[in-house]
Amino acid sequence: MATIPATGARTGEQFLDGLRGDAREIWMNGERITHPLEHPGLEAAARSVARAFDLQHEHADEMLYPSEKTGQPVNVSHTIPRSREDLERRRRSFELTAAMSGGMMGRTPDYLNVTFACFAGASSVWARRGNEQGAANLVAYHELMRDCDLSTTHSIMNPQVDRTKPEAEQAMGQVALHKVGETENFITVRGARMLATLGPFADDLNVYPGSDIRPQDGRYALAFAVPMGTPGLKLICRDTYARQRPAFDYPLSSRFDEMDCVVIFDDVDVPKERVFLDGDTVGYSEVISDTGWRGHITHQAFTRAYVKLSFALGLGHTIANMTGVVRFDHIQEKLGQIWNMAELTRSALVSAEAGARLDEHGVFYPDDRPMLALRGEMPKWLPRCHELLQLIGGGGFMCTPSEADMQGPLRELIDTYYQAAGGDAERRIRLFRLAWDYVGSELGSRSELYERFYLSDSWRMTAVAYQIADKSFPESLVEQFLHD
Ligand SMILES: Cc1cc2nc3c(=O)[nH]c(=O)nc-3n(C[C@H](O)[C@H](O)[C@H](O)COP(=O)(O)OP(=O)(O)OC[C@H]3O[C@@H](n4cnc5c(N)ncnc54)[C@H](O)[C@@H]3O)c2cc1C
Repeated sequence: MATIPATGARTGEQFLDGLRGDAREIWMNGERITHPLEHPGLEAAARSVARAFDLQHEHADEMLYPSEKTGQPVNVSHTIPRSREDLERRRRSFELTAAMSGGMMGRTPDYLNVTFACFAGASSVWARRGNEQGAANLVAYHELMRDCDLSTTHSIMNPQVDRTKPEAEQAMGQVALHKVGETENFITVRGARMLATLGPFADDLNVYPGSDIRPQDGRYALAFAVPMGTPGLKLICRDTYARQRPAFDYPLSSRFDEMDCVVIFDDVDVPKERVFLDGDTVGYSEVISDTGWRGHITHQAFTRAYVKLSFALGLGHTIANMTGVVRFDHIQEKLGQIWNMAELTRSALVSAEAGARLDEHGVFYPDDRPMLALRGEMPKWLPRCHELLQLIGGGGFMCTPSEADMQGPLRELIDTYYQAAGGDAERRIRLFRLAWDYVGSELGSRSELYERFYLSDSWRMTAVAYQIADKSFPESLVEQFLHD
């Protein structure tokens, strides 16, 4: 099993080297993948993840800080924030990482870095009901992630066997991930989880709670981390959406397919020092509700969403100017809708930071109210951008000869007949191909699905926002008229 040395912030090359040499079992289309660089469907995205590692060195002032343990520079997404400035710095780092892909890569390593920094900052929640060792393991793991600069994936949902039943009652309880044995040094787990985005590009897999669990289902209440090369761990990839075509043809698909996998635990031994929770069904929901995870993860997620909305606005604005439709007021209104979404997201982030406060764990916690409101809306807003871009671009998305066409005998005709008010034929074709990769290619469609579901669905999240909202002011406004 490969071991990543604790060198602090890694370069892209060090990250790619770190994926070599373990016995990982990643499968795609019947083929076992030894290293993502050796698979044409994964190579480009591996280089993009590597780019995220290089980025932290290029922006060291903004993205690195000295590790509390080793003093070496490490990524600020590992910070346990103690001040508003820590939050602002962390957001800037999220923004730089997201901008690299126009927000198309949702699961760059900063996503889980924030999660585990949040968990470690509230380790007393994990320690409840006698789980002091699990909490200590979690704090040590957060330090390992930070000081070894790990790339990790996570898998928190059980498969869709029958969503109307508890895990233990679906398929005789066999499918959902559960514990089947224990020795002095290991627990053994079996079952499956969906999904693990970034799986082929991860050093470790993290498992932590994703839903509530019944008191009698303790064997399903698990949180742990294992290296990807752990025997029995198998990841099955969906089809690759990485087009092995020039960047001209598919500017996004040729770079940013972060991949989604189903994870099968075929009797996996998890070392006890990597177990954070084992059997505590109450703790299983408390680590999500009481650690501040909601506010911290949405700080990363909606910074990326702000970048992606801005990218959508840039696409719509450039297309509308390219074809002249920007002069129509209903097109301006559509562009305005995208701007509204981006601006409300930016405002929510500013508001969350402005209203942040020290919580009971001594961690600076973003005001989660604007984030909870966005958590219901964002899964509708980003798909709506796809629709708005289609309405702005019309059939232009289909007027897109490939790079091979551009280099062929028809080039002169293409230059004449594909020109536009706002640019020559090549610029117009490049732009529409880029926008199609955002809204319509396989990667674009996957991206829309991702936005709808990666933080659970919009409907249930809106209901949760309502349930936990402070309703005292609205109630008081009504009450004052009910007592005359
Ligand atoms: C592209 C992509 C990448 C992802 N990456 C990851 C990842 O890296 N790690 C990870 O852990 N997860 C990941 N997820 C999974 C994500 O967490 C789940 O998709 C999400 O939790 C929703 O669950 P589900 O997809 O099983 O849908 P379901 O829960 O099966 O929902 C399907 C439909 O049924 C409705 N429904 C289901 N149950 C109920 C209910 N009880 N009450 C009312 N309505 C209900 C839903 O609203 C929805 O409309 C990813 C998902 C996608 C699409």
